[in-house]
Amino acid sequence: MTKKFRVGILGATGVVGQRFVQLLQGHPQFEITALAASDRSQGKTYAEACTWRLPGDMPDQVREFVVQAPAPPLDCDFVFSSLPGEVANTAELDFARAGYPVISNSSSHRMGADIPLLIPEVNPDHIALIDVQRKNRGFDRGFIVTNPNCSAIAIVMALAPLHAQFGITACVVTTMQALSGAGYPGVASLDATDNVIPFIGGEEEKVEAETLKLLGRVNGASIEDAKMSVSAQCNRVNVTDGHMASVRVKLSQSASLDQIKSALSSFTAKPQQLKLHSAPANPVIVRDQNDRPQPRLDRDAGNGMSVTVGRLLADKVFDYRFVALGHNTIRGAAGAAILNAELLVAMEKL
Ligand code: NAP
Repeated sequence: MTKKFRVGILGATGVVGQRFVQLLQGHPQFEITALAASDRSQGKTYAEACTWRLPGDMPDQVREFVVQAPAPPLDCDFVFSSLPGEVANTAELDFARAGYPVISNSSSHRMGADIPLLIPEVNPDHIALIDVQRKNRGFDRGFIVTNPNCSAIAIVMALAPLHAQFGITACVVTTMQALSGAGYPGVASLDATDNVIPFIGGEEEKVEAETLKLLGRVNGASIEDAKMSVSAQCNRVNVTDGHMASVRVKLSQSASLDQIKSALSSFTAKPQQLKLHSAPANPVIVRDQNDRPQPRLDRDAGNGMSVTVGRLLADKVFDYRFVALGHNTIRGAAGAAILNAELLVAMEKL
């Protein structure tokens, strides 16, 4: 049996941290050996510190772990980070400096010029920035790799095959984002119930900027942004899990509706070729029913790792339009980071 990597989870008691704990149970390559959270939780067992909010019981394996501070040293080979942005900024750098690879889900370092912002199906070549980062920052074994914003990832997984085959010149997206995207307790129930909130701080800027970096090309020591314009409007809606986005695209080459559909539904990439443990067989699932995707029905497609696309139609203003849906705490957060780590193992970076 191959040796398992020992992993720590920073922010282990939160919405995303609990997903990490859940998804890592029985993982063939990774085993949890350290959990960290705020000083509210430190020194308590995980069972005492964490109110488990996912279906089923808290896994026995972690109940008696004593929650530690999110600072090195931790007893592990690398860390997954789901710390709030302001804390992640310093803590992740401290871990990388201390020699720990950091596979982060937080936003603090995503746009750093030498930080890979990674979706294994879309831009695995961006891993090349790890060597640049180590050189720039004097890291030895450590580095930081990030996964994108939870809406950007679902949108970009649908854009990537279209951009590769036909070129996208412009893209307008309107998101409808789940409450769990705001962490716990997140949006107050009196604000969320019977309501839509047309503002999520920093989200529109993240979706716009991250899309360009994700679809960009490695150019020497940095990423050259994709040459397209992206406009995003983001809304919080009264759904527990699953971020949905209405997307309109303008293409640089003409393509038929059948070609667009085929590009999306036949899309597979490196994680599928490498048979990575968390890789879904179909990264993008295209549905023909005129009332899909829906969060409740489609967010768990591919164990929460597939993006479901529907309402695929020619558009009177842009070329095509569709609706994309992804699970925000799985493909949009913990599952994305775990797939990143699996790719890094396969590429011998961990
Ligand atoms: P959350 O439910 O509020 O959890 C935050 C976690 O960070 C908890 O474990 C908390 O520990 C810990 N923490 C809070 N303040 C801390 C401090 N000062 N020092 C050390 N640890 C601290 O948030 P979340 O939704 O899991 O989000 C975590 C990160 O993932 C954020 O950066 C968020 O932007 C990003 N993200 C979230 C989603 C999503 O769908 N929710 C998706 C993608 C990315 P205590 O329990 O001890 O307070």
